[in-house]
Amino acid sequence: MTKKPLLISWVLMKFEQLFHLAITFLAFISLASCATAKGNVYPLGSGYLRQDKLFEELTRIAGLNPALVQLRIIGFSANEKLPLYALEIGAKKATHNMLIIGQHHGDEVIGVNISAAFAEHLINQYAANAEYKKLLEQYRFWIVPTLNPEGFRVVSSGQFQFKRKNNTDTDGRKRLDLRTEGVDLNRNYPVFWDLDTDINVNSPFYKGKGPVSESEIKAIIALAQQQNFELCIFLHSSASGAYSEKIYLPARGNNSALFIQTKTLAHSYAASVKRDYSPGTYTVPDGLASEVGNARNFFFHSMGAMAFLVETGGINSNGQSVIHPDNKMLDKIVKKHVRALSKLFIGLMPEDK
Ligand SMILES: [Zn+2]
Repeated sequence: MTKKPLLISWVLMKFEQLFHLAITFLAFISLASCATAKGNVYPLGSGYLRQDKLFEELTRIAGLNPALVQLRIIGFSANEKLPLYALEIGAKKATHNMLIIGQHHGDEVIGVNISAAFAEHLINQYAANAEYKKLLEQYRFWIVPTLNPEGFRVVSSGQFQFKRKNNTDTDGRKRLDLRTEGVDLNRNYPVFWDLDTDINVNSPFYKGKGPVSESEIKAIIALAQQQNFELCIFLHSSASGAYSEKIYLPARGNNSALFIQTKTLAHSYAASVKRDYSPGTYTVPDGLASEVGNARNFFFHSMGAMAFLVETGGINSNGQSVIHPDNKMLDKIVKKHVRALSKLFIGLMPEDK
């Protein structure tokens, strides 16, 4: 054999090795992009809280510091009479009351996890961190992980992947269709209820037969009247993706001092939360406010509280709206909102004189 063919076969061999390397590399890249393009995952990951395990989980959280935390039942759901739980967290001398509602819409489950994780974070940090100790000596947090345990039960048990409303028999035929019937609890508050034109009982946005027709809304209004909340935050996630990773303000704020204050807080929250699948942070759209009977309109106009809605979820690289991501992404989302909430409330405290 001459040297030349040897050289050629050596080159060919190297070329083949390189080719295999390139294929492996491409396969790795496409797998990695599949991971980022992952959509909703069913059944829901083990990291999601479930309605039937909620009492157990909230009891565990409350037990972390019984002197600082009370687990309350503020009312019951309209149809299945499921308890509406609240964690009340704060030192006895705390005078400013804050409200966080993790869920109004059954399939928007991320907020249940965020609110419970935020409660646990506050309690753990109280013992370990002087800033949180100060926070909880001034502020009392009322954390309601879900105001819609019926919708939460349907989705967290895997019965249906999507269920926005509660389980009220809205068509009056005495036979409940879980898929279509129910009241959208975030359309049942009394402020601007009359302006909402959607009266189709099977609409996912059905506002109910009258303002405050649902016991869930009666319960939260009763709590609001007792506690005089200063700041209220409502967690949602946008199933369509059209509203995701944004913060929504009350309608008709008319640039009042309370509105400007609310808007400033919403902007600082938005700037501290990175979007899940695309560069940039959450935003606060201007001039996009629904004049319907939702929580932020009620708390702002009727209770004189700062109030805004945080819409989690995101659009992945395949253009899919993701509100039920896998455990790993859920954990990432929960952690960044716990950080953002902590930063917001710690920033609210007046400077030491
Ligand atoms: Zn929602």
